[in-house]
Amino acid sequence: MAALQRRAIRIRGQVQGVGFRPFVYRLATQRGLSGFVRNDGAGVAIEVQGSPAVLDDFINALRQPPALARIDDLAVSDLIPDRNVGDTFAIVASSGGPVTAEIAPDSAICPACLAELFDPRDRRYRYPFINCTDCGPRYTITAALPYDRPNTSMAGFALCPDCALEYGDPGNRRFHAQPNACALCGPELNWRDASGRPMVAADVIEAALARLLAGDILAIKGLGGFHLVCDAQNPAAVARLRQRKQRDAKPFAVMAANAASLAAWADINPTERRWLESPQRPIVLLRQHPETERRLPDIAPGLAHLGAMLPYTPLHYLLFHQAAGRPTGTAWLETIQPLLLVMTSANPGGEPLVIGDEEAARRLAGIADGFVSHNRAILARCDDSVVTDGGFIRRARGYTPQAIRLPGAGPSVLAFGGFLKNTVCLTRDDRAYLSPHIGSLDNAETCRALEEAVEHLQDILRIEPERIACDLHPDFPSSRLAARYAADRDLPCIAVQHHHAHIAAVAAEHGLREPILGLALDGVGLGADGGIWGGELLKVDGARFERLGHLRPLPLPGGDRAAREPWRLAAATLHELGRSDEISRRFGAKADLIRQMLERRVNTPETSSVGRLFDAAAALLGVRELSDYEGQAAMELEARAHRHGSAAPLAGGFVLNDDGLLDFFPLLAWLSEGVAAELGAACFHATLASAFSAWLAWARKKSGVRKVALGGGCFLNRLLTTQLRARLEKAGWQVLTARHAPPNDGGLSLGQAWVAMQTTPLKG
Ligand code: ZN
Ligand code: ZN
Ligand code: FE
Repeated sequence: MAALQRRAIRIRGQVQGVGFRPFVYRLATQRGLSGFVRNDGAGVAIEVQGSPAVLDDFINALRQPPALARIDDLAVSDLIPDRNVGDTFAIVASSGGPVTAEIAPDSAICPACLAELFDPRDRRYRYPFINCTDCGPRYTITAALPYDRPNTSMAGFALCPDCALEYGDPGNRRFHAQPNACALCGPELNWRDASGRPMVAADVIEAALARLLAGDILAIKGLGGFHLVCDAQNPAAVARLRQRKQRDAKPFAVMAANAASLAAWADINPTERRWLESPQRPIVLLRQHPETERRLPDIAPGLAHLGAMLPYTPLHYLLFHQAAGRPTGTAWLETIQPLLLVMTSANPGGEPLVIGDEEAARRLAGIADGFVSHNRAILARCDDSVVTDGGFIRRARGYTPQAIRLPGAGPSVLAFGGFLKNTVCLTRDDRAYLSPHIGSLDNAETCRALEEAVEHLQDILRIEPERIACDLHPDFPSSRLAARYAADRDLPCIAVQHHHAHIAAVAAEHGLREPILGLALDGVGLGADGGIWGGELLKVDGARFERLGHLRPLPLPGGDRAAREPWRLAAATLHELGRSDEISRRFGAKADLIRQMLERRVNTPETSSVGRLFDAAAALLGVRELSDYEGQAAMELEARAHRHGSAAPLAGGFVLNDDGLLDFFPLLAWLSEGVAAELGAACFHATLASAFSAWLAWARKKSGVRKVALGGGCFLNRLLTTQLRARLEKAGWQVLTARHAPPNDGGLSLGQAWVAMQTTPLKG
């Protein structure tokens, strides 16, 4: 028999509150090893003793951790064997010390809990708050570190004897599951009418489903906030929701029981299916079937994609279970279920998501016909995440507060982001923690939510920043807050140019420190020269950047207002083309004033923005003259292009000057000559892809750099991104795109933080 060995194992990563210690306990006891496991400030520490072969096998098995765990680092060292140690393995109390462990993100109900949920013999049959160490709420119920029940919104619920037994048994799936509960001791549902008065229902699930099927709009409390819910196949209910929410055209997300049921409405490729079924359960943008827009009017009008997700809380599943006639077991989850629900964030008027019951009654008055809520509080607001098969559009529930690894360590930075779709970012060592999507800072409520997000992120990470970062635009509420925060704490505040930050965000998540080229295709951002940028070719080298080229500017008659009125960009294009006389003919009497503004250059700044180029094209093709929401014209243009199918670039559609100026006026001129919208849209995308690859070839010759990062909101356009990437890869480029953070302004704070980490701050 081989001599006994003793080893110390240190594990870092997401290893607390995710069933990691019982997992270690099971592996050790199954193999007859002795020793102990405990949590400490940095993660999990193990000491284990046995024969070398068994120890090796044990360490191998550790590398396949439980569902919610993630190992970043596993270090093994040899110890002197202890003769006096017994033959037992134990879970011992935490050692205390400084906490750097991470709280896990929220996770969809796991298969084991689903099986119990639909088993009439189980004591948690149909219990809407069932969870275990492999699943359930985490981030959204946690106020501060360490992740222990008293720091969560479960603090007020005392465990009943059965739940306490599970909680204390290392062999149990619910060992130290902080939100562990049952119908006897845990949270319960409540049901209120439109005015917030409590209602009596023998069975809340049954009553709620009946109301939904009758066409009512219900506010239902989820993990990170309330949803407004109605029957997606009831056009009158959907129209009522639109009218009450005053959301004329923004698409709604839908929820179906499983991917098989969604396949009736949209195409699902294997990547999309993996996203849909992942424990993070994001909203996935799927290609709608051609007839879906007619069959589901008003859900995603005019768009190529349908936002869809699968149930993730037990409550969601119980609604589908009820609709299926309460079958026993889980086989029904594999079959097609006809119920399709609209599930849209309850954030009236673009304000933050509603999370509290009183707040719901107040802010959703006049919108919801009833409230399905419960007494487990949401402590951190967290919207649904939104993805495409290419990456994030919005990173929130299921991913927050998971760290993004940076290319290197540096001072802790708190970055405040931009203006639209804002997030904040906090760093420690080589880790960046992105807040969930906060929203656009165009209202006081969202600005308050920004301050809350900053506080909560610090509470759950216990990081004191050494530097502050913000956008170069001094008037953004985020920049003002950053400046005040820095002044109060006597910290340096580093303002980062918008498109530099976009490119830095992509470089950061790809672990790149060397100089790269950056193609920033975006809405707007303040330029280093005070101009309005948005179609930029940069060379980025750490804390510095150089603007190699930009789009030929378009006039913006009326400034910011032009961003919401694409027809103004079309008018500006005609003016630039020397065809001012056509402006009034095309756009009516309202256009006279705009023509005069253009001629006299009154309140008419210029922009190199690609977002505005999309607006101009959409309006010239008659696709959209006025936008209800940011990016609408571009999204509709993409949908038209999809309908046409592949197209060749327009010959002579752009001019590239030696000084790096890229001019699309030949393309715009062609679009203004009565081309069919579908053909024009397809040609527009193809011409842009070909022009940007020519632009980069020019920049490569100039700089010698062969790596390019693609950043900015325009890369949410799948068609443009796919076509451009194909061209660039064929030409030998290494193409970096955003995968762990959104390419739009939701990823800005990450880029700001990474730039600020590399900056040498000025003294004083
Ligand atoms: Zn579970
Ligand atoms: Zn209980
Ligand atoms: Fe941007």
